[in-house]
Amino acid sequence: MAMQQFQAESKKLMDLMINSIYTNKEIFLRELISNASDAIDKLYFKSLTDSSVGMNKEDFRILLTLDKDNRILTISDNGIGMTRAELEENLGTIAHSGSLDFKQENKDENIDIIGQFGVGFYSAFMVADKVTVISRAFGSDEAWQWESSGVEGYELTPAEKETPGTEIILHIKSNTETEQYDNFVSEYGIVAIVKKYSDYVRYPIQMERTKSRRKPEPDPKPEDYTPEWEEYTELETLNSMIPIWKKQKSEVTDEEYNNFYKDKFSDYTDPARVIVSRTEGTANYNALLFIPSHRPYDFYTKEYEKGLALYASGVLIMDKCADLLPDYFSFVKGIVDSQDLSLNISREMLQKDSQLKLIHNALEKKIKNELNAMLVNDRAKYEEFWKEFGRQIKFGVYSDYGMHAELLRGLLLFYSAKEQKMVTLEEYVEKMPADQKYIYFAAGESADRLAKLPAAELVLDKGYDLLLLTEDVDEFCLQIMRSFPRKDAEGKDGTVEFKNINSGDLGLESEEEKKAAEDATAENKALFDQMKDALADKVKEVRVSTRLKDHPVCLSADGPLSIEMEKVLARQPG
Ligand code: ADP
Ligand code: MG
Repeated sequence: MAMQQFQAESKKLMDLMINSIYTNKEIFLRELISNASDAIDKLYFKSLTDSSVGMNKEDFRILLTLDKDNRILTISDNGIGMTRAELEENLGTIAHSGSLDFKQENKDENIDIIGQFGVGFYSAFMVADKVTVISRAFGSDEAWQWESSGVEGYELTPAEKETPGTEIILHIKSNTETEQYDNFVSEYGIVAIVKKYSDYVRYPIQMERTKSRRKPEPDPKPEDYTPEWEEYTELETLNSMIPIWKKQKSEVTDEEYNNFYKDKFSDYTDPARVIVSRTEGTANYNALLFIPSHRPYDFYTKEYEKGLALYASGVLIMDKCADLLPDYFSFVKGIVDSQDLSLNISREMLQKDSQLKLIHNALEKKIKNELNAMLVNDRAKYEEFWKEFGRQIKFGVYSDYGMHAELLRGLLLFYSAKEQKMVTLEEYVEKMPADQKYIYFAAGESADRLAKLPAAELVLDKGYDLLLLTEDVDEFCLQIMRSFPRKDAEGKDGTVEFKNINSGDLGLESEEEKKAAEDATAENKALFDQMKDALADKVKEVRVSTRLKDHPVCLSADGPLSIEMEKVLARQPG
């Protein structure tokens, strides 16, 4: 039998995979199991309308067999199988080499194509130096064997197989100085990989496991009897099959959610909030999200990676899919499962953007609503949340003008000088006296010091509230927003602007007061000019102020930023 050549593109992709993308070899098993599961799906659906299939849902299984001595791992399924032509078509070519193009265009970046897209059947060659596939298609009475040792090509020969389905026989490579393969011929290794990637595959993944047990005691028991042990094997189902995120919220206890969270995301405390979200609009998905109750220790370091675990129909595609979360919700942990995503690279390439984007948008809205619900219904808990992650939300407002500000501004909390507690902007605006023209704030390092500024006293004295901002991002955040919605005296929608008490006209004085100050400045021009000269280039102008109450003098900034903010900026490196 002559050897068939792989198609040129397939050759390139295989070569690339086997030789350069070694970051995550273990995913070969996920790929082969998900192919098996797909094949079973196909036959199962056929069985629903075709009684000649003669199979019930419970009859389907994926069987793993391990021959340690010969380094052979076999994955067999009783799914739809492949005809000779299908073996050739499906395993001899790669339908579309989208991911090859992708990799070549992005040569310099360290892209983990396998982790991102899955490369299907060919990933077997990452761990095996020879792959044998024996398959019998449903409805056919002949079986065929496909065999290949890598890029050179493959051989097709007739084979024997009693029942429909496919067997993938992997001859696992031997360890080299740099690469380890023993894990793939170890019972524990295989079990761990199945649990990690394929726990939620809908059909049982079974393996004969070696166990030991105590032999029965003889009767009567001799005086000097010592217990004896024997080894035996037992067929075990390795996967749990039903994902917790597919269950109704009412079917799962808080404790189960909490345990799942702690297990999966290695946290030692319960999450602050559990969010269950399903298909919305055009996005098909199940999501189970968690808001942690504390900041991860590495949250503000480069090492922290945002993202949600992404599954396609119960099969893990990616541990941390960053595209599912906006940056300002980077603290959210969780899982998204969508049947619209497939492991197929070509379809994946097309769907990646549009489908993920839809899910991203739906989740963004959902998380925002949940935080809002927490703010309204459980204020104490929300304030705890705010201490941990509020800064991230403020970054969100400030990093993207307009859109995000509008989405997030309702979630902001600032310290109120008047109320002596955290308030939302809406709470601030609701309590504003009718004649108050601005939302006043002061920015600096210490709330105590800010509250003692002359201008602060003046604002508070008027009966107006004042927000005391002590984080570097605060003032930028308000500046980006510029204003906040407020109904005017007639109940019509309007806005009210933010005003730094250290800059510009505070809108506190009446026209007469302003006029009097201007007159006094003009009358004392000679004196003020002398003062200005004495202070040399330290000040731009000296004048009579309407802002002072108990203090004799104050400094005022004319630019867009307060003196405090300029200090913050001056401290920033670079
Ligand atoms: P994908 O699964 O994304 O289509 P793969 O490279 O994993 O790509 O597999 C290529 C094709 O080979 C599959 O689409 C399927 O038609 C066929 N195939 C692979 N494994 C099996 C199997 N165990 N049973 C039946 N068909 C299979
Ligand atoms: Mg596949």
